[in-house]
Amino acid sequence: MAITTHLQEVLAEIPQGVKLVAVSKFHPNEAIEEAYRAGQRIFGESRAQELKAKYETLPKDIEWHFIGTLQTNKIKYIIPYVALIHGIDSFHLLSEVNKQAAKVNRKVKCLLQLHIAQEETKFGFTFDECREMLNNGEWKTLNNIELCGMMGMASYTENEEQIELEFCSLSNFFHEIKNLHFTDQDAFCELSMGMSHDYRLAIAAGSTLIRVGSKIFGERD
Ligand SMILES: *Cc1c(COP(=O)(O)O)cnc(C)c1O
Repeated sequence: MAITTHLQEVLAEIPQGVKLVAVSKFHPNEAIEEAYRAGQRIFGESRAQELKAKYETLPKDIEWHFIGTLQTNKIKYIIPYVALIHGIDSFHLLSEVNKQAAKVNRKVKCLLQLHIAQEETKFGFTFDECREMLNNGEWKTLNNIELCGMMGMASYTENEEQIELEFCSLSNFFHEIKNLHFTDQDAFCELSMGMSHDYRLAIAAGSTLIRVGSKIFGERD
């Protein structure tokens, strides 16, 4: 019951055009089933084998998003059914995803992860690395991936001004890149930012996909 209530509280706050990824990592199938019965269809996982196990046992109309750090040797577990990979942080990873996707004849949607937080532990391209990767143009030869936008995580801080600045910097960068490289590609439209403690700020800064876990499912062990 608690999950349904918390899910509805979050949904009530999000405007049209913003989608909710319910981050179910480390939570059991029963928790996902409760959210599913309440109407939720997009779930996020951060471990390849966990996503695969859940995919195999849960309803097939669930849209599975991979939101964590993806190791190249784990890509094959998720490629057949992942709907969106949020955490592409190198050209190497993108080309490995492309390679595995080609094997099963899929075109896999991906988001580029940008490093916007002050903490050094968070992954992602710097803006310059991302510009360089896109200017290089080699990504255009990868026919089994589709770039659909960007993802970022703000610093874990109480300082809302800093969080706002970080989200706005990503939003501006997204528009810069969209205008340079994707003007004719409607699919490049997603800006994945915002978690349990900062999704309101992310929505205000232009997020189209929020990734909310503990606020819906409770704390993870
Ligand atoms: C775990 C995780 C989330 C969800 O975090 P909560 O604080 O539980 O909402 C969102 N995005 C990423 C990348 C995560 O790893």
